[in-house]
Amino acid sequence: MKDYVELRSDTTTHPTDEMREAMKSAPVGDDVFGEDPTVNALEELSARMMGKQAAMFVPSGTMGNISSLLAHCKRGDEVVMESECHIYYYEVGGLSALGGMVPRLVRGKDGLMDPADVESAIRGANIHYAPPGLICVENTHNRGGGTVYDLDRLAGIRDVAEKHGLPMHLDGARIFNASIKLGVEASAIARYFDSVQFCLSKGLSAPVGSVVAGSREFIAKARKYRKMLGGGMRQAGVIAAAGIVALEKMVARLADDHRNARALAEGLAVIPGIEVDLSTVETNIVVFDVSKLNMTSDEFAKELWSEGVRMTTRPPYKLRAVTSRMFEAGEIPLVLEKVAKISGRHSN
Ligand SMILES: *Cc1c(COP(=O)(O)O)cnc(C)c1O
Repeated sequence: MKDYVELRSDTTTHPTDEMREAMKSAPVGDDVFGEDPTVNALEELSARMMGKQAAMFVPSGTMGNISSLLAHCKRGDEVVMESECHIYYYEVGGLSALGGMVPRLVRGKDGLMDPADVESAIRGANIHYAPPGLICVENTHNRGGGTVYDLDRLAGIRDVAEKHGLPMHLDGARIFNASIKLGVEASAIARYFDSVQFCLSKGLSAPVGSVVAGSREFIAKARKYRKMLGGGMRQAGVIAAAGIVALEKMVARLADDHRNARALAEGLAVIPGIEVDLSTVETNIVVFDVSKLNMTSDEFAKELWSEGVRMTTRPPYKLRAVTSRMFEAGEIPLVLEKVAKISGRHSN
């Protein structure tokens, strides 16, 4: 019996028994020497799944993104990205602090940028301007509510990038959620990008790790930055082994998380005082607003916590529920009952 219902994040997923078995028996070596066979196998599998020449295992998505940005750009370059993207919002300003880069923010609709807006953000060769160096896209978009770019829109952004001679980086922490939603292989999304970062440790349930994929030349450059950042790991095969299981066994089941998120969102939408934009609920994230109850996110989350349901806040008035393996369909009625209870307590 669980002590509480876990809806804070898909990062809370524990490794599966199969992962733990694979970790126990994984052959290992010194990965800084390129000699860990399990890390090498994970990198080869990842490159193949992304349709790229090469890949690099990193301890976190944040390190995957910053190594990629450092490999693409030089100090003073402008990086075009969505205004609420993870790289800008949640990565401690690393692109500026570590790389001297300037974020150039584009406002998206639910996190999704329009190709025309990306183009307007790219500044020309005026002596006053920081030169553009890279376009970043986040798919699915975390703060947008797990929203997904359709392939036409990605093609549109790629056209803009090519017209201006700029590379593209995908923060694809949840690229497999996007691929499941679209019913395409992850490589069909990754093909629009020069580099891709994706997380093994979210819905895919590995305990640690992310991967960057790109051309052989790009990955060689990114590896140098990974080392600089302290991300050169040694017998990392023990964690890479779980990553291989994640990629081979855990992708298809993300559809369950999407189904649960949808059912949860539809149930929340009919509770008085709770507002949900159902059009944004495309994958495993549900964002809802409690301002009609005259409550803040923190007040609501605290009451919910004492009722045994954990979610994160999107202050001032929103909460976020993320479905994952740590949450089961059978828990949906309980969550709806608890939310309705709090709503009833604070109505009129
Ligand atoms: C989780 C996440 C990351 C990386 O997070 P880490 O915690 O550093 O692994 C990057 N981008 C997005 C969109 C994410 O959701």
